[in-house]
Amino acid sequence: MQHTETLNDLSGVVAADRAHVWHHLSQHKPYETADPRVFVEGRGMRLWDAKGTEYLDAVSGGVWTVNVGYGRESIANAVRDQLIRLNYYAGAAGTVPGAVFAEKLIAKMPGLSRVYYSNSGSEANEKVYKMVRQIAARHHGGRKWKILYRERDYHGTTIGTLATSGQDQRAMQYGPYPDGFVRVPHCLEYRKQWHVGNYGERAADAIEEVILREGPDSIGAIVLEPVTAGGGVITPPEGYWPRVQEICRKYDILLHIDEVVCGLGRTGTWFGYQNYGIEPDFVTMAKGLASGYAAISCTATTERVFEMFKDAPEDSMSYFRDISTFGGCTAGPVAAIENMRIIEDEGLLANTVAMGERLMANLQALMERHAVIGDVRGKGLFCGAELVADRATKEPLDERMVQAIVADCMAQGVIIGATNRSLPGLNNTLCLSPALIATPDDIDRITDAMDRALAKLAG
Ligand code: PMP
Repeated sequence: MQHTETLNDLSGVVAADRAHVWHHLSQHKPYETADPRVFVEGRGMRLWDAKGTEYLDAVSGGVWTVNVGYGRESIANAVRDQLIRLNYYAGAAGTVPGAVFAEKLIAKMPGLSRVYYSNSGSEANEKVYKMVRQIAARHHGGRKWKILYRERDYHGTTIGTLATSGQDQRAMQYGPYPDGFVRVPHCLEYRKQWHVGNYGERAADAIEEVILREGPDSIGAIVLEPVTAGGGVITPPEGYWPRVQEICRKYDILLHIDEVVCGLGRTGTWFGYQNYGIEPDFVTMAKGLASGYAAISCTATTERVFEMFKDAPEDSMSYFRDISTFGGCTAGPVAAIENMRIIEDEGLLANTVAMGERLMANLQALMERHAVIGDVRGKGLFCGAELVADRATKEPLDERMVQAIVADCMAQGVIIGATNRSLPGLNNTLCLSPALIATPDDIDRITDAMDRALAKLAG
């Protein structure tokens, strides 16, 4: 049965979706009796679904992506013009938008000098894993091929990146995984794993212990989120990053910072790592890079790494033997250029800092009113509230109750997020990542909705 014919015919669109679309991250059983939500239009931070309901989106498109907000005509126009001029070329040649954006991006990242294009955060991270393995093969006599990753961090959905998932529920059922990926402990201070000394330094020292156990000569790189996103919005404790950097230098381990969520303004600086004085060897980015107006991801690295892939031209094994077919789409870098201009011209980094402070202050006020909030944390417009059944024992609130709060906010017309079935027993953090254009009014509406939902839970 045909449900819908054109993009303007909304009458059958929900039925068509229900009949044929397999949604991401979704159990479809409920859709046997209930309609899925289908979004039709967005403006700024507001969205409308096919039934005409309006929402305030506090998660930037579900997964912290639409940093500059919906309905940006200047991005659409720039992409349109470029697609008519040249939509695509991939392989061993460049394009004008690719060159222009690479230069603009590198100007924001002192110490880095090269950009490799692909399409998704997972893919950008996989590129690093391949580069590290190739460096090991060619420059370390096959040693230094292992990659460290951290408990609670997430780096993507492919088998390779799932091998570095610190979130067990995401990776379960899809193994076996490739060898050479080794886990280190998380650094969330609220759930302390060590009780003496400076917590941040101690958490970093735990990485060194793993390095010594595995043998420093076997470790090529470590991948870390600057602020852990889906794993519970984990900001680093004081002293953590300087010590991590020191350990990487000591053992000649390349530092790969996954900026897929934090990149392009989310934490109030261009990149999350820039809050902590980190000097990375690799930076990967995707979501906010073009705010979802086109698919694009980048792997940025240093000249030192880049030089390791240059060799005698007749040696066909020395260059990076990789391609991303759609890394040649020009829509991505063009959208990214305009996205960056908007962040700059509209002062969105400063707005993110100011609105982030307001959001954090509101969350702290909620914490005083609702005992179920055990901890609030965040940086810029990237905040989380961890919910507990008991503040003293920190027993996590039951996942179904966390989801009930998300659903209640949705019923009030405010979309918030939560750690989504990623951590066994710890899917108890509400996540907020409004667009960087948020106003004081938007921020207050978000926390007012949470206040009402939390009050119902207590009642
Ligand atoms: N890294 C991080 C930190 C992420 O949050 C995500 C996506 N949620 C990814 C990588 C993977 O990005 P993508 O879905 O574009 O492959």
